[in-house]
Amino acid sequence: MEYIMQNKINRASSAKLYEEAKKYFPGGVNSPVRAFKSVSGPPLFIKKGKGAKITDEDENQYIDFCCSWGPLILGHDNDDVREAIIETVAHGTSFGTPTKLGNQLGKLILDNNSYLDKIRFVSSGTEAVMSAIRLARGYTGKDKIVKFEGCYHGHVDSLLVKAGSGLVTFGESTSAGIPESFAKETIVLPLNDKEALEDLLSKHNDQIAAVIIEPIPANNGLLLQDKSYLEFLRDVCTKYNVLLIFDEVISGFRVGFEGAAGYYGIQPDIVTYGKIIGGGMPVGAYGASSEIMSHIAPDGPVYQAGTLSANPVAMSAGYATLQILNGSGFYETMETKTQKFVEGIETYANEKGYELTLPTIGSIFWVCFSNERITSADQIDAAGMEKFKILHHELLQRGVYLGPSGYEVGFISAAHTPADLERATEMMKECLDIVFQA
Ligand SMILES: *Cc1c(COP(=O)(O)O)cnc(C)c1O
Repeated sequence: MEYIMQNKINRASSAKLYEEAKKYFPGGVNSPVRAFKSVSGPPLFIKKGKGAKITDEDENQYIDFCCSWGPLILGHDNDDVREAIIETVAHGTSFGTPTKLGNQLGKLILDNNSYLDKIRFVSSGTEAVMSAIRLARGYTGKDKIVKFEGCYHGHVDSLLVKAGSGLVTFGESTSAGIPESFAKETIVLPLNDKEALEDLLSKHNDQIAAVIIEPIPANNGLLLQDKSYLEFLRDVCTKYNVLLIFDEVISGFRVGFEGAAGYYGIQPDIVTYGKIIGGGMPVGAYGASSEIMSHIAPDGPVYQAGTLSANPVAMSAGYATLQILNGSGFYETMETKTQKFVEGIETYANEKGYELTLPTIGSIFWVCFSNERITSADQIDAAGMEKFKILHHELLQRGVYLGPSGYEVGFISAAHTPADLERATEMMKECLDIVFQA
């Protein structure tokens, strides 16, 4: 059967706004993946969200599994978060001074996280990672960083790097505008390859400041690693005197209040946060032991600052959100709900003989067009992305919104009701039939 991509929903307003936006912004957007380049049609211009649902400028409603790329673990327009924001904003938006709200959020996080002594708030995940890298270099007095293929750490210069060709593993930049000399400070290794890492550290640990990883790699599919591999990372970094950085911008406060560190029981040297920590407002953070954090200005020589850092409105949104996440049973409920959703779809795919699995952890899932367990970026079959494009399109027609790329994971929020998830499951089944008959 030949598949013809037909659009049955009205996207006229979004299309018009997109044409206008192209006059103002490169590619019509302020962050590239929003442009819908990997899926069909103009990007949806969303005008409001409530609970698990978003509404676009053409009044189409969707059950949202993108949740602003992860931050909205409580769903859209949560009452407590909204009230906290409104109460704070009534007294002004920013002072550039310390505030009691900053203390509150800092205390809530540190009192309930046994992996950190001190934290510094910044305004995005990228900024958190950039600062953590500088701290690692300043603390160790070494320059090189090891990262893994398939992990994303924001648009930090020295981390927009992939494995170079040839035998040497020094990186090659993945973006124009990054000096080769920067890329050379980054070494890129495959995930889940213990030998490659031990071999590298045993030879070059005198130059390597840190190993950075997404302990739950969720920006290039969901490349779930074995706990034993993450434990190995910890051991080998300690052995060779190299810092271990967990980039928990996605996994932090998502798989548990203590993120992946707590989920696996592994102590990293530096942890970065973003996304959920600001309750839908722009906040990032990095934290470590008191000893490591004492190297940050004004206590120490590593400079890092921010005009809008720990912005009070953002702090209040983060605080309202994290208080709810810290309540008993929050993460168990989220995980149970997500597993039920995933199982419903996987069981159906299995019965029908469709090559599809939904890897999952906590309230994260990934639509993976393979029956193999995928642990590294090179295992992902690009052909699956064509299937994803059809799936995405057909789901939109039926009021279900997934992030607009097959490499992106989906998120379930506390606001997704059993009815939302049942409806989404039914729509997934219908769409999978189309995808696998196309
Ligand atoms: C989203 C993300 C970042 C970048 O955060 P921004 O707020 O987009 O700058 C960094 N690391 C990871 C693991 C992320 O998921």
